[in-house]
Amino acid sequence: MKKEIFPYSFEQGPVRPPAEANSLLLLLTRNCPWNHCTFCPIYKDKKFSIRFVEHVIRDIDTAYKFVSLIKNQCGDDGRLTQAIINKIGKSVKPVEYSLFNAVLHWYSAGMKSVFFQDANSIILKPAALIKILHHINKCFPDVERITSFGRTQTILNISDKNLKAYADLGLNRIHVGLETGSDKILKLVKKGCTKEMHIRAGQKIKKAGIELSECVLLGLGGKNLSKEHALETADTINQINPSIIRFLTLAAPTAEIFGGHGSDEYIPSTDLDIAEEIKLFIESLNGVTTYIESNNILNLLQEVEGTMPDAKESMIDVLNSFISLSDDDRMLFQVGKRLRIFSGLSDLNDSSRINGAYEACIKYGINKNNVDKIISKMIQNYM
Ligand code: SF4
Repeated sequence: MKKEIFPYSFEQGPVRPPAEANSLLLLLTRNCPWNHCTFCPIYKDKKFSIRFVEHVIRDIDTAYKFVSLIKNQCGDDGRLTQAIINKIGKSVKPVEYSLFNAVLHWYSAGMKSVFFQDANSIILKPAALIKILHHINKCFPDVERITSFGRTQTILNISDKNLKAYADLGLNRIHVGLETGSDKILKLVKKGCTKEMHIRAGQKIKKAGIELSECVLLGLGGKNLSKEHALETADTINQINPSIIRFLTLAAPTAEIFGGHGSDEYIPSTDLDIAEEIKLFIESLNGVTTYIESNNILNLLQEVEGTMPDAKESMIDVLNSFISLSDDDRMLFQVGKRLRIFSGLSDLNDSSRINGAYEACIKYGINKNNVDKIISKMIQNYM
């Protein structure tokens, strides 16, 4: 049997999609097996490894043990009190503390979903992934959703038969980092795949009956390739029709993203450029029934959400509202939103929030000329 290099402990990775906030996070692999994308700092200098399957099974068994103890103590109404937590907590071993906390959160949230970390856990050998899925089903038959990140290249290497087996065992959503449909940008940022591969992988996931969530990285083309990014990504999405598109704004953009200069120089997009980019992207979507999600904390216009095609016009209206703001109002909104004084564009009608944003501009020395640079630094602080 292959030896695990780490002793057993419950481990969690650094990233999960916002929609998995209430999921039980199970780490199947550590870090990213690719790790070359120029825009992605998450796993830099960290080595990829696969967790010992028996350790994942032990996570599930220990979670089952805690859930059983909680259910026994809670009785019929299922209400979890601090007294119950303290009572069970006395028997928790130090190696189990973090899993116990994860289970408390999961139990309180209804125990409906499980998310596999880290960046690409579907790279596991089919027998191992099937064993883990079986065990989740056995211990937690009421779980409704099991999800994972998955790379396009990895998806293309999984047989249709195995993908279908995963789907039948409850793996019902895969989050793919599409980033862009532009071959030029995919090459510059070293994503390791092409538009055609993205399309084939997306169609393959859908054919297996698995829900597909594609992440689109706003601003990835910078100013020079923004239009190409919007049009090529829309064309890719039109050929896949995924269940969900998640917008994520590129954080900490630097010239190194394109790894070169001259014609390949990367010039960071401003919030206004990104609003124009999203608008062109949504205008170019045709024949899709995808849900567009924009709830990531890095996104400025989180109200650009809805199901295509019905929400197309309302999303474009939101974008036009931002694009047509005066320079002063746009600056106030950018600052107010990033400092969480505003929650959406409608807060520009609230005089007390406007005053708050004005005061912040004065306090931090923000004006129309430096707002984009300062916003960029604020976004880096979210990371
Ligand atoms: S594949 Fe994903 S996790 Fe890995 S380097 Fe690229 S963006 Fe980061």
